[in-house]
Amino acid sequence: MIKVDENGFYGRFGGAFIPEMLYPNIEELRENYLQLIETDEFQQEFRYLLRDYVGRPTPLFLASRLSEKYRAKIYLKREDLCHTGAHKVNNTIGQIILARKLGKKRIIAETGAGQHGVATATVCALMGMECTVYMGSVDMERQKPNVERMRILGAKVVPATSGSKTLKDATNEAMRQWINNPVDTHYIIGSVVGPHPYPEMVARFQSVISEEIKAQMLEKEGRPNPDIVIACVGGGSNAAGAFYHYYNEPSVRLVAAEAAGLGVHTGKSAATTALGKIGILHGSQTLLMQTEDGQVVEPHSISAGLDYPGIGPVHAHLFDSGRGEFIAVEDEAAMVAGIELSRLEGIIPAIESAHAFAALHQLSYSKDDVIVINLSGRGDKDLETYIKWGQY
Ligand SMILES: *Cc1c(COP(=O)(O)O)cnc(C)c1O
Repeated sequence: MIKVDENGFYGRFGGAFIPEMLYPNIEELRENYLQLIETDEFQQEFRYLLRDYVGRPTPLFLASRLSEKYRAKIYLKREDLCHTGAHKVNNTIGQIILARKLGKKRIIAETGAGQHGVATATVCALMGMECTVYMGSVDMERQKPNVERMRILGAKVVPATSGSKTLKDATNEAMRQWINNPVDTHYIIGSVVGPHPYPEMVARFQSVISEEIKAQMLEKEGRPNPDIVIACVGGGSNAAGAFYHYYNEPSVRLVAAEAAGLGVHTGKSAATTALGKIGILHGSQTLLMQTEDGQVVEPHSISAGLDYPGIGPVHAHLFDSGRGEFIAVEDEAAMVAGIELSRLEGIIPAIESAHAFAALHQLSYSKDDVIVINLSGRGDKDLETYIKWGQY
C-alpha cells in the first residue's frame, strides 16, 4: 500500500525535520488541514474555482498520430490547458482557500524557475491577499518574464542574495520569514516536498488529475484504469496527482521521467533516483543528490522545473518499493520529443513535460496498451530554450 502514515512517512521517507522555531507553524497546519479540506464548504469552493477559474476538467485527448508512431493507444492529460499554463495552480488554489480558513492574511512562497511564484501570485490576486515571493537573485536574472508576471499580478518579489543565490537560498529566506510571522502568514509550497503535511497535502490537491483520468477513461475505454501512466518528476507534484488514485491499483504501471541533463554520469544532471542517497532536504527525509560528506549537489536540467536535487518522499518510496518505474531522460532527448509532439499533435509542450514523452523510447509495452501521459504544462514559457536549441 502506498499511503502516508500519521507521522508523514511513506516507508522510510518523509517526516518533518525542521528547526524547533518552526514547530508551531507546522503543528497548526498538521492539526487542521485534513479536517478543513474534508468539509463540504471547502470542497464546494475548491471545486467551483477548479471548474470556473482553472478550467477543469482538463481534457483527456487521444493523440492519434503519436499513437500510430509509437504503436500503442496514447492519451494526453491536458494540464497545459489549465489557467496559467500548468498543473501548479491546482495546488495554489487549494492552499489559498486553506490559508483563509486558518485566518491567515499574508502569503509567502519561494520559487526557482518562477512558475510556482506565478501560480501563487495569481491566486493571491484572485483572493485579494498580500503576496511575497522569495527568489534567488541569479534566478531572477534568468527568469525575467516570470518576475514581471508576478509583479503585474501585484506580488512583491524579494531577491535572495546569500549562497548560490538560487532556489535553496530562496527557500531558506521563506522559512526565516515564516518563523518570524507565524500567526498571520501561510507559506505555500509548490510541490510534494517539504515537511509533513506538505507532501501529502499537495498530492491531495493535485489528485484531481487522476480522479478525472479515471472518469474519462471509463467514458472512453469502458474501464477506469489505463495500463501505464507516465509523468515527469521535478519535486513530483504533477506525477503524484496523475498517480494518486492508481497507487494501489497494481495493474497500472506508474512511470516517472526524471531529468538526466547532459547524462546521468556527467555531473550535470538531476536524475535523483539514479544518483541520490537518503538524506534530509527541505524538512523531509528523501532521496537527494549529495556528495560523500552530505553536501547537496547542484542539479542540472535544460528544464528549469526539473532542476531540483531531490524528489518528494512519496516518489522516493515508489522507487524504493519498486512500485514506480523511473526513467532518466537527457536534455537532448527531451528537446527532440518536444518538437515531435509539436509536429504530430499541434501541441508545444513545456520542456518538463517533454521528458515524459521522451520516456516512451525507454519503455517496454505492447500495442494493446493504453498509455496516459500527463502533459503537465504548455511550452510558451520555454520558447527561448527551443529557439536556442534550434533543431526544428
Ligand atoms: C514545475 C513544473 C514541473 C515540475 O514540478 P512537479 O512538482 O514535479 O510537477 C513539471 N512540469 C511543469 C510544466 C512545471 O511547471
